[in-house]
Amino acid sequence: MKKTVFLILATLCLMSCHKEQEFMYTVDKFYDLEILRYQVPGFDELTLQQKTLIYYLNEAALQGRDILYDQNGRYNLRIRRTLEALYTRYPYAKDEQFERLEKYLKRVWFANGIHHHYSEDKFLPEFTQDWFVTALADARIPVDSAILPVMFDPDVMPKRMTQQDGVDLVANSAGNYYGEGVTQAQAQAWYEQHKDTSAAPKWIGLNSQLILDETGHIQERVYRVGGLYGPALEKVVFYLEKALPFAETSEQRKVIERMIAFNRTGDLDIFNQYCIAWVNDVNSQVDFVNGFTETYCDPLGITGTWESLVNFKDMQATRRTQIISDNAQWFENHSTTNPKYKKPEVKGVSAKVITAAILAGDCYPATPIGINLPNANWIRKEYGSKSVTIDNIVHAYNEAAKGNGFNEEFMVDANIRRLYNKYGAVCGDLHTDLHECVGHGSGLLMPGVSKDALKEHASTIEETRADLFALYFLGDHKLVELGLLPNDEAYKACYYQQMMNGLMTQLVRIEPGKDIEEAHMRNRQLIAAWVFDHCQNGEMEIIQRKDGRHFLQINDYEGVRRVIGDMLALIQQVTSEGDYDTAKQLVEQYAVKVNPELHQEILARYTKLHLAPYKGFVNPVYTAQMDEKGRIVNVTVDYTEGYIDQHLRYSRDYSNLPDIN
Ligand code: ZN
Repeated sequence: MKKTVFLILATLCLMSCHKEQEFMYTVDKFYDLEILRYQVPGFDELTLQQKTLIYYLNEAALQGRDILYDQNGRYNLRIRRTLEALYTRYPYAKDEQFERLEKYLKRVWFANGIHHHYSEDKFLPEFTQDWFVTALADARIPVDSAILPVMFDPDVMPKRMTQQDGVDLVANSAGNYYGEGVTQAQAQAWYEQHKDTSAAPKWIGLNSQLILDETGHIQERVYRVGGLYGPALEKVVFYLEKALPFAETSEQRKVIERMIAFNRTGDLDIFNQYCIAWVNDVNSQVDFVNGFTETYCDPLGITGTWESLVNFKDMQATRRTQIISDNAQWFENHSTTNPKYKKPEVKGVSAKVITAAILAGDCYPATPIGINLPNANWIRKEYGSKSVTIDNIVHAYNEAAKGNGFNEEFMVDANIRRLYNKYGAVCGDLHTDLHECVGHGSGLLMPGVSKDALKEHASTIEETRADLFALYFLGDHKLVELGLLPNDEAYKACYYQQMMNGLMTQLVRIEPGKDIEEAHMRNRQLIAAWVFDHCQNGEMEIIQRKDGRHFLQINDYEGVRRVIGDMLALIQQVTSEGDYDTAKQLVEQYAVKVNPELHQEILARYTKLHLAPYKGFVNPVYTAQMDEKGRIVNVTVDYTEGYIDQHLRYSRDYSNLPDIN
């Protein structure tokens, strides 16, 4: 339930930092990939205990690296190691072939294997098999002939995971969640047979591989110390134990203890206890995920892919959301909605914004911008869940996007670009905060109206409502009074960006001829198109330049805000009354259809910018200073390591699994 996958046009933005000019966000670019750096603001202000805790949790995160390679395909570790050996012991002068080798290896590192991390398709080297075999021989590196067809034959293991209708999903997926020869029917029958139907069910299959034994029967190989991936999990446990004495709270102590016990035993009851302890641990500033977590990569959606993320609460952002929450009633009372739809007593929630300290496993190099865990529904229901936004990652996306030509191409003039560069980040933050902390919680359902009254349009309308609430108050002087915005001009940056995105630029993510399906994209177009339609007095317009390009121009921001207020009142009414017919009509009229000519134009303009659609990261390097007794006395962060150096170092220092597992 995580994977708030990053958007090409991140609509969230973050606080700008004074050192911005000195920090280079983009590290490398190859194929459709761009490698970025991220900063870890606030790390230096943590206590020594917290820094020490993070240091050991980071080590535990990195120790699991090989697990993901093996889960992604049973030949991946052998391929990666052979490539790295040839790369570091290259037998010739550096030539064009060397560059091809480097490009392929960089791609393998990015995908944690030989299949594209997003499309799931196998990518092929630009060098030939003959050249590869000769070069290995010349470098005196033994050739494992089993990897050759896997690397070079497009028909062998073409997909990491297939979801194609009518084929055997297990047999046709290269992912290593099932051993050779296991069929989908066999795997499903095994899961069915071992299903836990109790009130506190174990997630059977979360931490294991299913294989065929000599007699053709399914056997389960459990990921645990002494079991499958044992050598890596042993190292993970070693560093979790180092971390344990530095836990901030008794709940966090329990979290780490349960995670250690789970890695040792593979017992899924202990995993449930771990999840519950993790949800209950709300007072620690430092937090982490480490283990078999998301199940998207298993074609049957059962087995968890290994990942780790170590993070800490962003206290500045938390204070900001606290101010908003404290004023929740003021916002409710002053919104444009009909008084009978207002909550007499409204409680704001405080949003959780975190700073990532390290990304690992399936969170690295490509990473989500938010997490929402645990995944077991019964635990979510009984104990709740944690949902967080990873601030510094979003920030890095946005900073890297500056100067890539996008705003120059699509924003109408230098004035709005200046405004956006200055205030886009702070407004984007506030928009998210208002949406999360007070937007969703505002308003009242009329007696007898069911929560599900808007059926398939419920999520689009709900996101629209929260967004409108946020947009309306962004333009209110109250935010300047509360010290959240610097002046009464800043909100214009957000208005322009939101309207431009909803009317035009988000279309770059839609294929020609397709409708808009995704709820958030629908909600953004619904708002922009409805507001545009109801700006009858030239508040905003689409202008066409002599070269044919179209641009959004906003002439009267206060006027636009009034129309946003009208729409908020309407959407609140639809929600409060459970008015399905109006919801449906609004979505169909404004949110789904795309103007084909404008779409073509936007796509053509976007293509010319040659932007890499996928991004990933290098991690900072943490160095612990020890005293003579081996106790950590300080931890420092360095951001200078490059992409290649980082992966070669990880392969050297964190290579815990044998070639064949
Ligand atoms: Zn929302």
